[in-house]
Amino acid sequence: MVEKKKDSSMEMSRRSVLVQGALCATGVATVLAANVETAKAALPQSSVAYRATPNGDKECDNCQFFKAPDACEKVAGKISPKGYCILWHKKA
Ligand code: SF4
Repeated sequence: MVEKKKDSSMEMSRRSVLVQGALCATGVATVLAANVETAKAALPQSSVAYRATPNGDKECDNCQFFKAPDACEKVAGKISPKGYCILWHKKA
């Protein structure tokens, strides 16, 4: 019976590819996690034309993103219940 001799350089190459693949996957996972965190980060008030006064009957207090008493899921900083921004969406 002829036993096939493993080529050590081939084995190293395979191992190297596996290690590099694992490192690459780790890097991709890290980048994706960073992107998710960035996506979750609140926007600056100036970028959404936030103001501390309502727009007619549209105000933070009746917006689905408002988090009482003074925060917002989408916008950074202290948010007035009587404020408004372009992201306003009627609370369900
Ligand atoms: S209108 Fe809605 S999205 Fe905009 S700051 Fe107020 S609660 Fe946040």
